[in-house]
Amino acid sequence: MARHLVVVGGGTAGSIVASRVAIDARDLVHQGKLRVTLVTEADDHLYQPGLLYLAFGRMTASELHRRQSVLMPREVELRVGRVAAVDTARRTVRMESGDEIAYDDLVLATGSRPVPEEVPGLAQGGESFYTEAGATRLADRLARFEGGRIVLAVGVPHKCPVAPLEFAFLLDDYLRERGLRERTEIVYTYPLGRLHSLEPVADWAAELLPERGIVTETFFNLDSVDPERRVVHSMEGTDLEYDLLVAVAPHRGAEFLARSGDGAPLAGAGNWIPTDPRTLEVKGHPGVHALGDATDLPISKAGSTAHYQAEVVAANLVADIRGGHGGHRYDGKVYCFIEAGRGEATYISFDYDTPPRPQPPTRLVHMFKLAFNRTYWLMPQGVL
Ligand SMILES: Cc1cc2nc3c(=O)[nH]c(=O)nc-3n(C[C@H](O)[C@H](O)[C@H](O)COP(=O)(O)OP(=O)(O)OC[C@H]3O[C@@H](n4cnc5c(N)ncnc54)[C@H](O)[C@@H]3O)c2cc1C
Repeated sequence: MARHLVVVGGGTAGSIVASRVAIDARDLVHQGKLRVTLVTEADDHLYQPGLLYLAFGRMTASELHRRQSVLMPREVELRVGRVAAVDTARRTVRMESGDEIAYDDLVLATGSRPVPEEVPGLAQGGESFYTEAGATRLADRLARFEGGRIVLAVGVPHKCPVAPLEFAFLLDDYLRERGLRERTEIVYTYPLGRLHSLEPVADWAAELLPERGIVTETFFNLDSVDPERRVVHSMEGTDLEYDLLVAVAPHRGAEFLARSGDGAPLAGAGNWIPTDPRTLEVKGHPGVHALGDATDLPISKAGSTAHYQAEVVAANLVADIRGGHGGHRYDGKVYCFIEAGRGEATYISFDYDTPPRPQPPTRLVHMFKLAFNRTYWLMPQGVL
C-alpha cells in the first residue's frame, strides 16, 4: 500500500510542501509507494502580497490568481473542498461534504484570517486591504477620496509584519500623485509602545514616518468603531475621528482546528497550532507537521517564513519516507521586502537568534520587490 501524505491548505506553505515532496520523491509516486494529496478550499491560488498593490490600482485582480491545479506537479493529487475536522487518533481528514481521507502523514498549512467581526463596528466602519474584496473596495474608496483624515489602525497578531507600514508609505505617494496630500492627514496607529513589534523596524519607522509627514499614535489597541460618528476607539481610551478608516484586523487560525485532534483540541488560543519551533511537528501529535501562518510560533507570519519552513518539512518528510533520518531544522528565518514609497524599498532578514537590521531604502530593492511579484509563481510549483 502506498504511504499517503495529506497536506491541508493550498496557500504558500502547503503548495511548496506538496510540490517539493512530489518532485523529490517522484520515483516513489510512480512506483505506487507514495501518494501526495493536497486538500484546499478552491482551485485558485491568491498571491496575497499583491493585495497591497491592488488597493492602489498598481496591480489588477487577475494578476494575483493562478489555478492551483496548473501550479501543482502532476504527481500531486488535488482535492478541492473545505476540511471540517481532523481526527489525529484515527488519522483521517473529514471534509465538509462528509467524505473522509485517511492519511499516514499530515501537514497543516491552513494559514490565518483577519477577524474584523471581533472588533465591534469594524466590519461596518473600516476598510481593509487584507482580503481581495476589501482591497478592491478600498481602491474604489481611495479613488473617490477628496481629502480629510485617514486613520490606519493595526490589530495583532496579523500576517505580513510590515504591510501596514508599506501601506502608509504607498498611501503618502498615492495622495501626492493625486494632489491630495496637503489636504489629508495620515495617522498610523500601533498597539505597542513603539511603531512596530520588531524593535529595529520600529526605530527605522520612527525616522521615516515623520519625515513623510505621517502622524503616529502608539498604545492604540483597537477596541471599537462607531461608523455613524466615524470615530475609532482604543482600549487605552484614545478616540480618533476619521474620514477613512483602514484597519488590519487581528487574525486567528482556521476555525476547524478547534474541532480537531484526538480528544484534546489540536489548536490552542486564537486557533493557533502548538508547534515545535525547530522540527515544526505539532506538539503531542506524532506524524503531524504545521507551518506557515497557522502555527503558534513567536515569529512573523509571512510568505517567506512559510517558504523556509516548507523546505524543512518537505526535506524531513522525504528523508523519512525513504527510510532515513532528515534532521533538518528551521532556524526562524524570515525575509521581507518593505516598500518605503518614493520608488524605493528596503528589506529585513532575521531568525530566532539574529535581529533584523533595516538598511536605507533604495530603488534597486524596490525593483526586486516588483520582480518578485511576477516570479512568485515559481515558489508554489516547487521550483524556487
Ligand atoms: C496584504 C498582504 C501583504 C502581504 N505581503 C507579504 C510580503 O510582502 N511578504 C511576505 O513574505 N508575506 C506577505 N504576506 C503574508 C503572506 O501572504 C502569508 O504569510 C502567506 O500566504 C502564508 O502562507 P500560508 O500557506 O501559511 O497561508 P495561506 O497562504 O493563507 O494559505 C492557507 C490556505 O489554507 C486554505 N484553507 C484554510 N482553511 C481551510 C479549510 N477548512 N479547508 C481547506 N482549505 C483551507 C486556504 O484556502 C488557503 O489556500 C502578505 C499578506 C497580505 C494579506
